[in-house]
Amino acid sequence: MSADPDSYVDLRSDTVTRPSPAMRRAMADAEVGDDWYGDDPTVNRLQDAAAELAGKEAALYLPTGTLCNQIAMHAFVRPGRFVACEATAHVGGTEAASAATMSGIAFRRVPARARGLLSADQVAAVLEPDPYDVDQVDLVAIENTHQLGGGSVLPVGDLAAIAKVCAGCGTPLYLDGARIFNACAVSGTTVADYAGHVDALMFCLSKGLGAPIGSLLAGDREFIREARRLKILLGGAWRQAGMMAAAGLIALRDGPGRLAEDHAHAQRLAEGIAEIMPDGVDLGAVVTNIVFVDASSSGHSPREWEQRLAEHRVRVTLVSGRVRMLTHADVTARDIETALAAWRRVAAELIP
Ligand SMILES: *Cc1c(COP(=O)(O)O)cnc(C)c1O
Repeated sequence: MSADPDSYVDLRSDTVTRPSPAMRRAMADAEVGDDWYGDDPTVNRLQDAAAELAGKEAALYLPTGTLCNQIAMHAFVRPGRFVACEATAHVGGTEAASAATMSGIAFRRVPARARGLLSADQVAAVLEPDPYDVDQVDLVAIENTHQLGGGSVLPVGDLAAIAKVCAGCGTPLYLDGARIFNACAVSGTTVADYAGHVDALMFCLSKGLGAPIGSLLAGDREFIREARRLKILLGGAWRQAGMMAAAGLIALRDGPGRLAEDHAHAQRLAEGIAEIMPDGVDLGAVVTNIVFVDASSSGHSPREWEQRLAEHRVRVTLVSGRVRMLTHADVTARDIETALAAWRRVAAELIP
């Protein structure tokens, strides 16, 4: 799998993008300082830009979205207490062992009625006081877009209703907005529109926005002061990080405006696969840059599809027994046609 990346159409994730020429130049020219001391001017500019964009008092630049989530949960949740989240959310699934190890946190995982999107009444139910006073939910975490929900978008109004329930219970609300810009591109809203309803949020620069590394955690000044303490405590003070922040600033400037293109490419990909395998794709679920294919009706395992697609130079990944593909800045309209041609060829091999 170490072949020249240009010879593949890589749909495994939107994290596989390589920095644009503008990012490379900005990285080479970046003004830097020691971020432990708060001295890196490029990191500081990025943090200020992120805070402003989110309409929050402050922001903290961190290497990964996972570290943003872990620091936020550590700050909001006491050991032995719960985070309430959707049943297939990243924080309570992929990150559950991290939260257990780093913070002694457990999860109340609430299955959504559809596509990973929780409603205010479901949040109200999970926040009902435990009559025995044992189970205590210290934080509600919402994921938008919802990855395992197929990149589904929670409308701002729904988040506002959830926020009202949380406020009524005195429970803080956190937004895992790894792909919040994709949600904004669909719903025609700003990050601040969403962020205004939550106590804190994170978003990734390293996904649809195309930066090589980095995510931002945003919230009020006191929360970010504590988050910075935890960042240093966990060994995350990354010195002259301005090299990376410079690419991050370009991602923030150029990234959001081109996401509609990724969404159109995902739509075309989903429609093309639906022609090959009508019951494999839920077309209504494809609203952002993620396409899930359930290949079980073919009688072949998703692993078999993954391996055969790779032989035709198309890389996909497997998530929860389905084939997952994401569009991103390094995927062109032509790449989508190449991918569809590969699907057709594999279908001809596997489906009699
Ligand atoms: C990718 C992702 C994360 C983690 O981000 P990393 O930068 O990969 O650590 C968290 N939440 C969601 C919803 C994600 O998709």
